[in-house]
Amino acid sequence: EACIGAIDAAGALNAFVHKTPDIALERAKAADARLKSGEEAPAMCGIPVGIKDLFCTQGVESQAASGILEGFKPEYESTVSQNLIDAGAVMLGKLNMDEFAMGSSNETSVYGNAVNPWKVDDRQLTPGGSSGGSASAVAADLCLAATGTDTGGSIRQPAALTGITGIKPTYGRCSRWGIIAFASSLDQAGPMTKNVRDAAIMLEAMCSHDPKDSTSADIPVPNFEAMLTGDIKGKVIGIPKEYRMDGMPEEVEKLWADGTAMLKDAGARIIDISLPHTKYALPAYYVIAPAEASSNLARYDGVRYGHRASLAKGEGIVDMYEKTRAEGFGHEVQRRVMVGTYVLSAGFYDAYYNRARRVRALIKRDFDEAFDQGVDAILTPATPGPAFGLGEMSEADPVEMYLQDVFTVTVNLAGLPGISVPAGLDKQGLPLGLQLIGRPWEEGDLLNVAYALE
Ligand code: GLN
Repeated sequence: EACIGAIDAAGALNAFVHKTPDIALERAKAADARLKSGEEAPAMCGIPVGIKDLFCTQGVESQAASGILEGFKPEYESTVSQNLIDAGAVMLGKLNMDEFAMGSSNETSVYGNAVNPWKVDDRQLTPGGSSGGSASAVAADLCLAATGTDTGGSIRQPAALTGITGIKPTYGRCSRWGIIAFASSLDQAGPMTKNVRDAAIMLEAMCSHDPKDSTSADIPVPNFEAMLTGDIKGKVIGIPKEYRMDGMPEEVEKLWADGTAMLKDAGARIIDISLPHTKYALPAYYVIAPAEASSNLARYDGVRYGHRASLAKGEGIVDMYEKTRAEGFGHEVQRRVMVGTYVLSAGFYDAYYNRARRVRALIKRDFDEAFDQGVDAILTPATPGPAFGLGEMSEADPVEMYLQDVFTVTVNLAGLPGISVPAGLDKQGLPLGLQLIGRPWEEGDLLNVAYALE
């Protein structure tokens, strides 16, 4: 009830786009009954959470913040949100995001942007994106935790810009079934929480092997919380020199150095490493992600889901497809569909898509080599800077926005787990995050290093 009240009072943040107080109160009652019955409570019994609008939730609007899915209420529940229900979590509603998770500021949402609860004077700031509503809601205490998804940084970047914790697990840890697809070889769900312990508990609840997702991994899910000992003595932390970008703000550099010193004081061994193909990650990502998106988004044709354009007399089915897609998709989504279609077209496939895939393999190999040298985790900044003002980045230059992902996309391209933890404030008093990148399937160790940094 306190959360429902807080959500109503914080309408100006535009974090929740569909509220489900009835579902919340019903599940809360069930949780109460479970606790009173004396039976052992599941890990998230009665914990109020928000669910990103990208997750299909049975009977509740699930629109990926897009006009094209207007009014879409799925008949089924995504595996991840079902796992959370099974663990006793209480859904308060659906959270704002960039349309189809494409963006870094939550400004491409059909609902309008979410707002960062952190402010400098009266300047309104973005909570980041695409999981901007999730970040804003957790940072403003509207819920105890939220789900996010991360294709190129959409959990870690908004977590960093709002001073919360967010982990993208290894590709295959969380089932993608029932999560509206953006770029299927990169998409992963993960928790966005107040701290590392909450992230460990919620991640464990979200993970499972799911035969309905052929890329879901059939490996045991450990008790992540039990792995939080804070003991990182002897762990090897790699500092990649390629992440020291030109023009990096001094404060980010300082925070990175402070984080390194903190891990060293806790007994870790710090080594310099090289990930030589880092500079090609962003261009490769912005070929691969739109390519997959153009294919995934072909299903929105006005026939099967959501919005359908009305037709003038004499117009046929092709007009219907065209008008529906022109009306239903926002500008950024249209741009991605066009870029994706172009790079997959017969004449350009080798020059762009295949080349990007080769670059992706090289990026993965860089990480493999670092891990082969004995590196346990890699420490980098999470974002190039703090939260920026809403409306400050021009739509005319999308690359400016794409640069937000410069430290995060490598992790998705390589399928690795990555976590962003709050690392301190900049001189305006805004939060900044540090990112730790771990070995595949070793989220427990990664969380433990993050715990030492927290
Ligand atoms: N900002 C990146 C993009 O627009 C990443 C988004 C994401 O991780 N979903 O593609």
